[in-house]
Amino acid sequence: MSRIVVTGGAGFLGSHLCERFLERGDEVVAVDDLSTGRRENLEPFASDPRFEFVEADVSRELPVTGPVDGVLHFASPASPPEYLEMPLETMDVASLGTRRALDLALANDARFVLASTSEVYGDPLVHPQPESYTGNVDPTGPRAVYDEAKRFAETLTMTYHRLHGLRTGIVRIFNTYGPRLRPADGRVVSNFVVQAIDGKPITVYGDGTQTRSFCYVDDEVRGIVALYDSDVSEPVNIGNPDEYTMLELADVVREVVGSPSELVFEPLPVGDPARRRPDITRARDLLGWEPRVPLRDGLAALVAWYQEERARGRA
Ligand code: UDP
Repeated sequence: MSRIVVTGGAGFLGSHLCERFLERGDEVVAVDDLSTGRRENLEPFASDPRFEFVEADVSRELPVTGPVDGVLHFASPASPPEYLEMPLETMDVASLGTRRALDLALANDARFVLASTSEVYGDPLVHPQPESYTGNVDPTGPRAVYDEAKRFAETLTMTYHRLHGLRTGIVRIFNTYGPRLRPADGRVVSNFVVQAIDGKPITVYGDGTQTRSFCYVDDEVRGIVALYDSDVSEPVNIGNPDEYTMLELADVVREVVGSPSELVFEPLPVGDPARRRPDITRARDLLGWEPRVPLRDGLAALVAWYQEERARGRA
């Protein structure tokens, strides 16, 4: 049994990680300032005696006492509209927050895993993206508040590894969806599914030919836990390589929901990457990991969860 700290533990991915560690018998401390995380995400396991919640902004403090075996730093806004609304907070949590989380791991000689992102590849000129690709990022563009901040967080993490011998890991997370993805968080899967359920127009940004590759949350979390359990220190892509244009995604969503929603076209956000797809050779070779859940099945699970949320009076 280990005692594991998950920053961002009330968030979409963070709460699934907490749940997975509790299920296998670990103790979990979730730290979250509830800016984009939600207390509701903790409800399924909040009463577990092995679970503890600490409400704190890890950019300012990380008030965890007692022994710690693992630190997973998952605190950050992750949806483009949200990190663009919270640009300084996003940079703080990736810089000051990562430093604090690394210091907690160092003080306890704990395993550390950083939640990084496919955004470190920017608008990639290499396709699909292997971890060796160093990316195409505009440091002064609007998205830099997230992608440059996460790149800096990776640099900090590798510095603690090289300087102090800290056992660190870096997961580059590609687009992920599933239960607890907030309906109003502004990302494409939540937007399209909610619009389809409501029979409202589906908002396609640009001409809809840009691509993303969507990983179901259970697959993503299994990959992150495999990385945590390993001693791999180099960055690892965890994502589903099945690539879709946004027009194709809209079609699949309409089919799964059984929705007649029409499409409306809206402007493409500045710096929106044209193509994104993980090369998961490293995850396969080093972790024995690959995704299992096809998009249609994962979307059906997400639709069911949104409908349950509504039945509970939470939209
Ligand atoms: N997108 C869209 N309609 C929406 C929301 C997003 O067409 O209502 C597009 C967005 O422009 C991007 C892709 O979907 O090309 C994925 O966007 P998301 O915000 O989910 O995440 P990103 O991969 O850009 O970080």
